[in-house]
Amino acid sequence: MSTLASQPETARRSPAIDTPDWQAVLADSVTEAAELCRLVGVAPSDAAAAGEVDPGLPLLVPRTYVARIRHGDPHDPLLLQVLPRKEEKDRPAGFTTDPVGEAHMARTCGLLRKYRGRALMVATPECAVHCRFCFRRHFPYPELPKPPTCWNTSLDEVAEDPSIREVILSGGDPLTLDDRLLAQLARRLADIPHVARLRVHTRVPIVIPQRATGELLAWLRATRLAPVVVVHVNHPAEIDDRVATALGRLVDAGVPVLSQSVLLRGVNDRVDVVARLCERLVELRVMPYYLHQLDRVAGAGHFEVAESTGRALVHQLRARLPGYAVPRYVRETPGEPNKRVLA
Ligand code: SF4
Repeated sequence: MSTLASQPETARRSPAIDTPDWQAVLADSVTEAAELCRLVGVAPSDAAAAGEVDPGLPLLVPRTYVARIRHGDPHDPLLLQVLPRKEEKDRPAGFTTDPVGEAHMARTCGLLRKYRGRALMVATPECAVHCRFCFRRHFPYPELPKPPTCWNTSLDEVAEDPSIREVILSGGDPLTLDDRLLAQLARRLADIPHVARLRVHTRVPIVIPQRATGELLAWLRATRLAPVVVVHVNHPAEIDDRVATALGRLVDAGVPVLSQSVLLRGVNDRVDVVARLCERLVELRVMPYYLHQLDRVAGAGHFEVAESTGRALVHQLRARLPGYAVPRYVRETPGEPNKRVLA
């Protein structure tokens, strides 16, 4: 791998990244590998050729995230997460298109019942960034109706089952929806008497910190449901000052914020990296919740870290950090009643 000549930071910035309008930032995202390579100063040969990129997961990176990538470094841990590479064509044994047994979700219109008392709703198929290791990269999103139509069947199913106490909004990423729609969804869920908690799984405030809008905080504060936001963040360099401010806004609004990360080869498979991430999160009042073993999804084999390495990493982490700052290292196995704690 080689690097191109250094390029000033200003060349990578677009006026749109300074706008408070998160939808404008999203609309201005980078979608071509050649442009991403040019912006971050790495050779295009480090990326998969345009025709080789999985059409189910085309490149998508907001410029607010691109600006945090180290210039001229093809091994930058943020770049590795978003740049399609030739290795995605590899098919190591055990890597499948449905690693956690969710393909049937499309038939149930986006409601997944994995664990007791909880139901996960695919609120939207859209994301604000396309992570190359995504376990839902082959999910049959096109078979789902578009939001808000896709919610009707899920909401009926939740209403009919009094054992459901918590609804998890996932996707895609629910925070790619505008707040008017999300407030409407929260109201419809709150109208179901047995639902008590609303969890939002999101990566948007990490990649586009402008997403922590007053409207978002308003509906999260207003719902009678107990809200929890779980942000997906994998590396301390993903948290710049703007992200710190966005997370602070959520916490200051009284919303418990947790984090989840995926253990990724070349990105965060060293104890010092995970320790820095966890300390930074705790200091921002975000509690590290899960460190996930990679789900074995086809196209992501090059990101896998051996479980033995992950266990050793977490043991070292425990020796360094207070217990509350150490996430649970877990793996999901289809059909099991809960995630298995590995360390
Ligand atoms: S934001 Fe989440 S759902 Fe979307 S591509 Fe990344 S990991 Fe997958």
